[in-house]
Amino acid sequence: MLPDFRLRQRDYLLNISRAMTARLDLSSLLELTLQSASDMLAGQAGLITLRRSDNSFAPYASIGLPIQALPLFKPLWEDLDSDSDQPDTSNITFRLALASRAAGVTLRQVVALPLEIGPEIIGYIFIFRNHGAAFSENDQHVLSSFANQAAISVQNARLYQEVNAERERLNAIIENSGDGVMIINPYRIIQTWNKALVQQTGIPTEEAVGRPCYEILNLQTSQGVSVCHATCPLIRRPTGGRLYAEGIHRRADGLAITYADNYSLQTNADGEVGQIIANVRDITQFREAEQLKQTLLSVISHELKTPVSIIKGYAGTLAREDANWDKATLADGLAVIEEEADRLDRLITNLLEASRLQAGGFKLRLSDLNLADLAKNAVENLQTTTDKHQFELDFPEDYPPISGDYERMWEVLTNLMGNAIKYSPEGGIISVFGDVTHADMVQLSVRDEGIGIPPADHEHIFDRFYRVDNRLARQAPGTGLGLFLVKAVVEAHGGRVWVESTSGQGSTFTIELPIDPQNKTQA
Ligand code: ADP
Repeated sequence: MLPDFRLRQRDYLLNISRAMTARLDLSSLLELTLQSASDMLAGQAGLITLRRSDNSFAPYASIGLPIQALPLFKPLWEDLDSDSDQPDTSNITFRLALASRAAGVTLRQVVALPLEIGPEIIGYIFIFRNHGAAFSENDQHVLSSFANQAAISVQNARLYQEVNAERERLNAIIENSGDGVMIINPYRIIQTWNKALVQQTGIPTEEAVGRPCYEILNLQTSQGVSVCHATCPLIRRPTGGRLYAEGIHRRADGLAITYADNYSLQTNADGEVGQIIANVRDITQFREAEQLKQTLLSVISHELKTPVSIIKGYAGTLAREDANWDKATLADGLAVIEEEADRLDRLITNLLEASRLQAGGFKLRLSDLNLADLAKNAVENLQTTTDKHQFELDFPEDYPPISGDYERMWEVLTNLMGNAIKYSPEGGIISVFGDVTHADMVQLSVRDEGIGIPPADHEHIFDRFYRVDNRLARQAPGTGLGLFLVKAVVEAHGGRVWVESTSGQGSTFTIELPIDPQNKTQA
């Protein structure tokens, strides 16, 4: 059976370890250690100093001492030799006598021990008595267990602080990463959803965390097939391959974002997956640019190839030495070649203009421009290409000139009138008319009696490469660049363009332009 004081000592140490697991803060833990040590050693006061970053020591916890008097006790630890682990008792007893007199307390005996973590002395523990009986060797022995306990508390607190600081650093990196970062558990439940993802998707962290990623991100192919259900790499893990998924996330407001997810599995010591870190990158622009490149390639190969093969075919036929073409056949053949060459020229101009626009090299050469005259010239030019359509011009007498770029406005008018011909395969009347709506704006409209445009397409037809997806519209050749350029040129002049149309009822395209764009843009 253990002697009584050994039992008490064991109980005290047990209490301190319990307090440690209950995660009391370091100074309360050290105070508890001091209290227990002081009780065991029949002391009345105690003090623990810890080493600071500048290597000096400073009081960290005390009992039975007036806080404001603590600096007066500095001589006790001031020049404790950190290499020797046994402070010189007679020397510090003398210093204690001076300090306690200055502090107005009566403390006569002191026992001090270093707090050690491995070879490093990280502080000292002092226990004081207010009566003359000196501390025995056994007292020192008892104190050493408390010193060890205090050293463990300090080390734990330090490790805890380090882990915390590291965790906060990692959290800050994840939280502030420019790319989306999501951490999910093996059941694909979201644990972390960073700021970038909140901003991009509009889904707040509280809503995302705790829910499955396949519901929140819900990536889909462009055909609407769920990537998360069909090909999630976390379910069908490719052996040795990288864990990657790509798909479209549709935001609540309808905007589509293409995401590329790279997953990295975090395994524990047993090789089991603990969590999965997903880098969620917004690649919408990249995919759009790729898509544009693809469209451009197919437009070039299809739309440019057709007139070239017609020209080549006619030229080859007309040039045959064994054939003796009459004048009328020759003239017809040459007319087709000229028409196709014009079409090719328009296509190439549109393509060049579109790429110039993209590169930002779009500058207007302004001069006084009479749109009514320009429209008349364009009509004369285009009327020769068709006998199914009848052009009508109607401009008011006082239709004012604008300040505009002649070449570009010519492209605008020929694109609009060319479309009016192209998309009225049955022919009909094409009206080109002008109007003055405000004092500083003019309007010009091109109205046809053709196939019309379904309302759902109105907002898209001015997009690059956009073509209405129906049989009638697709019968006409085209690149989907004409209206894109019309809009760009009109807007560069400070104006706007719009369409009024319903399927099968013809279309009216109207451009509205400021009479003086400089005044307009400054307004
Ligand atoms: P393109 O005619 O080369 O296809 P545009 O940019 O000029 O390209 O026109 C985009 C689309 O808008 C066309 O493909 C067509 O579907 C539709 N569109 C344009 N003008 C008309 C029109 N006058 N009538 C009917 N549809 C039109």
